Amino acid sequence: MSYCVHCGVELDATATFCPLCHTPVADPNQPPDLRAPKPFPTQRGEVAPVSKQELALLVTAMLACVALCCGLLNVFLKPERGWSLYVIGAAAMLWLWLVPPLLARGMHLLLRLLVDVAAVALYVYLISLDLNGKAWFWGLAAPIIFWGGAILLLLGLVLRVYRRSVITSLTILIGSLGVFLFGVEYLIDLWLYGRWDPSWSLVVLTICLGLVIPLVIVRRIPSLREEARRRFHI
Ligand SMILES: [Zn+2]
Repeated sequence: MSYCVHCGVELDATATFCPLCHTPVADPNQPPDLRAPKPFPTQRGEVAPVSKQELALLVTAMLACVALCCGLLNVFLKPERGWSLYVIGAAAMLWLWLVPPLLARGMHLLLRLLVDVAAVALYVYLISLDLNGKAWFWGLAAPIIFWGGAILLLLGLVLRVYRRSVITSLTILIGSLGVFLFGVEYLIDLWLYGRWDPSWSLVVLTICLGLVIPLVIVRRIPSLREEARRRFHI
């Protein structure tokens, strides 16, 4: 048995240097045994990837369990109000978001987004049913949800093309946020007053434009772009 001359740690018979302080092992009475197997793996092992089906099953079981438990609790706790429907609706929405992409390999972006937006719309529709809010659902909530879905789809398609550059992605994200909120105010105005009277969304849109314009300039000028990349590690 050898010990490191520098830090005193006990060394394996195969060690040629100390694993802690990297001091070379020099024991004239016991040279390192280079043929014996190392006490640790010397090659990187493969970790089996998680099966998507198993993951989907786990997520389904977790969400179903939460929904079921809340449903049962509702029978005893305030049974006159169907509060558990909110939890069950949220669980169903999360399931639609998480599980189909796991099961369907290479699900098309458009289909995935349609399912996601439909899940949100369905959940909000359930809430509107409970609150007697059919009018605000169809008049305000549904248009905003579908407008958000359209912006997300556009964002997804554009980012697919330009995803290599962080500056471009940031520019597109900020621009989309401004356009989305502009549309939201338009829809709210239309629902509340029946006419378009832009105010706060114009401020947001101006701020977004104020951020987008310098980013576009930085992206256009190679020296600035390089400087930004170096400074912000992007
Ligand atoms: Zn050592």
